[in-house]
Amino acid sequence: MVERCPWCVLKNGKNGDAELYLKYHDEEWGAPVRDDRKQFEFLVLESAQAGLSWLTVLRKRENYRKAYDNFEPAKVAKYGEKKAAELLANPGIIRNRAKIEASINNAKRFLEIQKEFGSFDRYIWSFTGGKPLDNPWKKTSEIPARTELSDKISADMKKRGFKFLGTTIVYSHLQAVGIVNDHIIECFRKPAVAENAFEFHPLTSKRWNDFETLFGERGACGGCWCMTWKLPRKQFKAQKGEGNRKAIKQIVQSGEIPGILMYSSGKPIGWCAIEPREKYPVLENSRALKRIDEKPVWSITCFFIAKQFRRKGLSVKLINAAVEYAVKQGADIVEGYPTEPKTNLPAPFIWTGTASAFKKAGFIEAARRSKARSIVRYFIDTERTKCQKS
Ligand SMILES: [Zn+2]
Repeated sequence: MVERCPWCVLKNGKNGDAELYLKYHDEEWGAPVRDDRKQFEFLVLESAQAGLSWLTVLRKRENYRKAYDNFEPAKVAKYGEKKAAELLANPGIIRNRAKIEASINNAKRFLEIQKEFGSFDRYIWSFTGGKPLDNPWKKTSEIPARTELSDKISADMKKRGFKFLGTTIVYSHLQAVGIVNDHIIECFRKPAVAENAFEFHPLTSKRWNDFETLFGERGACGGCWCMTWKLPRKQFKAQKGEGNRKAIKQIVQSGEIPGILMYSSGKPIGWCAIEPREKYPVLENSRALKRIDEKPVWSITCFFIAKQFRRKGLSVKLINAAVEYAVKQGADIVEGYPTEPKTNLPAPFIWTGTASAFKKAGFIEAARRSKARSIVRYFIDTERTKCQKS
C-alpha cells in the first residue's frame, strides 16, 4: 500500500471529497511552486479558508477560478465596487465581505511586490534563499501551525499592506507552495517533492564532467556544444562536434564561466548560457539582435534541458537562477532573445527560450526587429541589491 500523510485520507468522504483531497495531496501540496499566478491562487484560497476547513475551500476552487479570472493578479487588482458586490452575491465562493475585500487589496500589493522584486515568487522564496526547507516529521501531530519563518513573512507582508495573511495562514501557504516540505517521512510524496529542489552552479573546470554528461555524445544538439553565438557561422559548422567540444572546454579551463548548470538530486539536468553580451560576437553582428543601447548587458543565449525534465517549466527556474548569478557578478541588465513558437516545436528548436518563460521570470520586451524574435530585458534594482549586500 502507498503510504501517505494521514490527514489527506478521508474515511467518509461524500461526493468525491475523498478523491479531491487525495488528489490535492498527491499532486500539489508541498510541490515547489515557482509561478506567480499559482502563488496568488494559493494566497486567495488560503486567506479565504481562515476559520473554515481546507476541504471547504477545495470544493469551491473551480468556482473561485471562474469568479476570479483564473486568479490573474493584474485582473483582480482592477476589481471595483461592482465586481466586489458580484463576488459577495456569488454562492459558489465563500461570501465574506472582509475576505473578498482582502483578496482585491492583496492583488494590488502583489503587483507592487512584482514591481519591486521582478516577481512575487522571487520575493517569497528569498526568505529561504530559494530552497525548500525539508522537515523530518514522523507524525502529522508534530507539524507546527506556525514558525519563526511564517512570523517573519507574515509581518513583512502586513507591513506591505496585505490583509488576512496572519502567521498561520502564511504557514499553510508555505506548505502548499512547497517552501516547506511538511509531508511526513513515510509519505511517498516526501522524496518526490524534494526532487524538485534544484541546485544551480556556475560551470567551472571542476564541473566540466557534469557539462559533458549533460550534453551527451551529440553535444546537446547537432554537435553545437553551445558555441553557436561565439563563432562565425562558417567556423562553427567546420568544427561541429568534436571541434566545438574542445573549444568550449578550452574556454572553461581558461577560467571563463560560460553559464550555469542545474542539478536535481546531484545530477546535472539543465544548462543556461549567460555571459556579458560582448562574449557573443554573433549576437553583436546580428541584424535582428544588435545592441539596443550602449548600456552594459548580460545575455542569456541558450538553454538545454535533459529529455525527461522538459516541458515542466524548468526554463523559468533556469532564468531565475541565471539572473541571480548575474546579480552576483554585478549586472544591471539581463537580456534574453526568445522565439515565439507558432507550432509545438520540439525542444531543441527553442534553445533561446520562449517569450512566455522570460515573461514569467519578470522580463519585459525591449525591442522587436523581427516577427519571430524579440529582445527582452530584466532590470536589476541596483539600489535594493546594494542594501542587501551591505
Ligand atoms: Zn504527504
